[in-house]
Amino acid sequence: MEPKFYSIAIDGPAGAGKSTLAKALAARLGFLYVDTGAIYRTVGLFVARSGGDCGDKAQVLIRLPEIRIAMTYGEDGLQHMLLNGEDVTKAIRENAVSGYASLVSAYPEVRAFLLDMQRALARTHNVIMDGRDIGTVVLPGADVKVFLTASPEERAKRRCRELEQRGQPVDYRQLLEEITQRDYADSHRAAAPLKQAEDAVLLDTSALDFDASLEALLAIVKERVPL
Ligand code: C5P
Repeated sequence: MEPKFYSIAIDGPAGAGKSTLAKALAARLGFLYVDTGAIYRTVGLFVARSGGDCGDKAQVLIRLPEIRIAMTYGEDGLQHMLLNGEDVTKAIRENAVSGYASLVSAYPEVRAFLLDMQRALARTHNVIMDGRDIGTVVLPGADVKVFLTASPEERAKRRCRELEQRGQPVDYRQLLEEITQRDYADSHRAAAPLKQAEDAVLLDTSALDFDASLEALLAIVKERVPL
């Protein structure tokens, strides 16, 4: 009999706290944390670096065969992104790369190109995977699906703090505008738009701090996964 691996899908808009919470939950449960946004960021970074316009589909698609992406996990359990052998884990966190990722992720060919690598991880590990379409497209049979959200203002505030801590301060108003635009683009694209799966549990963390959010998430998981 094949071993059973559990999968937990966490979707939601930018800055809802998906990655911080998913990372903490994965550490608690001993699951592998898979940040799928990082994969789209890596594609966007490659296109931009090679002088391509991420908003031009032909320019993106022609470059796909030149892109080799690998995900590795360090001793710390953290995900590293390798782009043609180079570790771009830090570079993909630049604020500009968020916009590139959103643009390239709208092309169905890009999504198809990245689908297998995401599914393969869930076939061989217990995973907590976060993104926009994990519960709807990547892992429709996930054991737990959570749609994590918070108000746009709260999300912009959190992202502001995060970027500031990384030494890349960004104006709050500008960030709020960017987040609102990115959510709109992610939710209205034809290919795998951001939306709550029918069987996902909605968790709004606007009024919850990190610890309370993590406890709420754990409670949802414990109801569905025998831990
Ligand atoms: O989660 P993160 O902000 O790093 O994602 C960057 C962008 O990648 C998102 O705005 C979205 O356009 C895209 N994305 C996606 N599907 C995923 C994860 C991310 O389309 N599963």
